[in-house]
Order: sequence, then C-alpha cells, then structure tokens
Amino acid sequence: MDFEVNPKGFYGEFGGAFIPEMLYPNVMELQRNYLNILHDAYFQQEYRKLLKDYVGRPSPLYFAPRLSGFYQTRIFLKREDLNHTGAHKINNTIGQILVAKRLGKTRIIAETGAGQHGVATATVCALMGLKCIVYMGKIDAERQAPNVLRMKMLGAEVVPVYSGNMTLKDATNEAIRDWINHPADTHYIIGSVVGPHPYPDLVTRLQAIISEEMKRQLREQTGNENPGFIIACVGGGSNAAGAFYHYLDNPEVRLIAVEAAGKGIDSGESAATMALGHPGILHGSRTMLMQTEDGQITEPYSLSAGLDYPGIGPIHSHLFKTGRAVYENATDEESLEAAFRLTRLEGIIPALESAHALAFLDKGRFKPDDVVVIILSGRGDKDMDTYIRYMEKHDM
Ligand SMILES: *Cc1c(COP(=O)(O)O)cnc(C)c1O
Repeated sequence: MDFEVNPKGFYGEFGGAFIPEMLYPNVMELQRNYLNILHDAYFQQEYRKLLKDYVGRPSPLYFAPRLSGFYQTRIFLKREDLNHTGAHKINNTIGQILVAKRLGKTRIIAETGAGQHGVATATVCALMGLKCIVYMGKIDAERQAPNVLRMKMLGAEVVPVYSGNMTLKDATNEAIRDWINHPADTHYIIGSVVGPHPYPDLVTRLQAIISEEMKRQLREQTGNENPGFIIACVGGGSNAAGAFYHYLDNPEVRLIAVEAAGKGIDSGESAATMALGHPGILHGSRTMLMQTEDGQITEPYSLSAGLDYPGIGPIHSHLFKTGRAVYENATDEESLEAAFRLTRLEGIIPALESAHALAFLDKGRFKPDDVVVIILSGRGDKDMDTYIRYMEKHDM
C-alpha cells in the first residue's frame, strides 16, 4: 500500500536509518529479523495470548451516550486506558520483549521522559525475568518521582542522566551509547514510532492491534467497520499510527491527529511539530522537527508530559505531506476543559494526553449520524496533581 514503509525504511521522503557506524550491527540485526519474527505463527500466538490474558485486550469500544448528546454526533471511545499499566504503551513493550527473546537478548534498555514508557518496559521485563535498565533525565526523574518508584519496585535500574537539559533527548543519547557498548546481549525498546528503521514500522505494527480490534467492534456495533473519523493525540505518534494503520488505504475514513499546542502555537511554548516544524534528522530518522533556522532542536513544551517531544514519527510526516491525515492541535487549557467534560459526562478521567484528542470535538464539524472514534490512549491517575490545580483555580 501507499503508506507502507519501503525496504530501506522510508515513508516517501521521511524515515530511514541515519545512525553512527558503531550502531550498524544492532540495527541491521533488527532490520533483518523483525518481519520474520512478527509473521511467525508462534510469535503471534504468544503475543496475542499475552495481550488477552495479561493486558486485558480487546480494549472495549465504548459508545459514549452523554458525550454524543453534547456534541450532537455519535462518539465512540477506544478504551486503551483500561489496559494493564493504564495506556497503549504496553501493546508495544509486550511485542518488543518477545522480539528480544527471539533474538536471544538477556538485557533490556529503554529511555523514558514522563516515565510511562519506562514503567511499561519495566513491567514486561519483570514478566519475562529480564534485566532492565531505564535511562531518564535527572530533571524528569525528579518531576516524575512516582514512576521512578514504580520502575524500581518492578526491579528495573533507573539511571539518571546529567548531560544536556537532563530530559528525554539526553536520556535517549545515553541509551544509544549503552546499546553501542552492548551489541550482543542487549535490546533497546523504543517507546514510540520514532528512531531508525525498523523501529517506526515495528512499533506501528505492534500498535496496529488498536485498529484491528476497532474494525471488528464497529462492525458489531454499527454494522459498518469504517467510522467517519478517527481522532488520536500525537507525541511521537504511536497510538495514532496504530489507530490509523488498518484504515490507511480507505480514504473515506478521515484521520485526525492532535498535537499539543501548549500555551498556544505562537507562544513559543508548544510541541506542535507539524504546525511549526521543518524536515530534519533526529534520533536516526528524517522527519518533521521543531528547530531553529540553523537546525538546533527547540525545547518543546506541553503541560502533558507524554506529548512533550520536538519531533514526530516519520510515518506521520508522510501522512501529513500526502494529506492522508490531518494534523490539528489543542492547547493546555482546551485539553483540561475537555478532560473535565469527559469526566463529568461519562465518569471517565482521561490522561491529559488523550484529552487533546477530545478537545478536537469542539473544533470539528460533525453531522448527527457521523461515527467518530476517539482514542482514549490512557487514564488520568497520573495527572491528578494537574487536575486538582485546575479545580482549585476554577473554584470547582
Ligand atoms: C506516551 C503517551 C502518549 C503519546 O505517545 P504516542 O507515541 O504519541 O502515542 C499519549 N497518551 C498517553 C496516555 C501516553 O502515555
């Protein structure tokens, strides 16, 4: 299909594997093996069994009657928030830990910003009894102390990174350095559809379970497997890529990705890569990036830690360029409002990331009989401090 990655790892002009030579053995080993592993019947059996019995899939597709009434259209929520560990990230880490085992790896490394991917990785390492090392910027480790404690309780070693801004980008550099030094026994689990080929495609395929289930669930509930709209938030873009995947060749289904506009697109404090970015190379692939005129990466901002990334997966840059998907954005404030609306109308407290997708309901034009699927990428427990501050500010 038009939107598949090519054998060199490109989606149109985006993607590829721009890596230092010292990383070639590791990345080539993955490139050579990942499709065979994913297509292997025994891998699929193991992956699907764990998704069912450990993660709790299929995640429900919930028709939201009061939210639908409010917006005068038919809204369904894909409930990734109900997965074990509270978000979609576990779909990927379960898959990658099985790939690592197939390749005979005994040691797992990961980078994490907000800690959500670190927790999902530490979880599957505990499940499989593999050694786990998570690199985390010193500043992030302080901001996300509960997730650091979770990872430690799960048996992972959390290594604070003191270089650069001491945030996600620096943690990623440190993880890459570790991987170069341990080519034989270590697998690097990347948490979104970013990084050198084959990671964007590997993670997309592991998250594609979201759209695979949606097709069946929509057929059962509406008689038509194709919705009018699919709306998902994007940081790196993995929940969106998984939700779009099985609909890419069906132009009737409108695909909408929502980035974090932070304090506003023109405020200088946002993470709206498509609205503000230009092509460049980061973390091994060519993609849209927020950068200065001389190519320095700009520090991104969003109140929601999971969307706070200066780039976006190359598949999204291609979907943007071809017009197959539309890239919108929502501010902190709009997303907070949307989070409270869902909570009060449906009794579901969403992750602040997912609330960005919900915020698009205020901007889109939907007809009463349109079917609109929103990906609820995660639950809001981790965002309670932010929500409590919002209530205090607004005398709620
Ligand atoms: C990490 C995270 C995201 C953003 O990651 P994507 O790769 O863009 O999906 C969104 N929602 C939640 C709940 C997350 O934890």
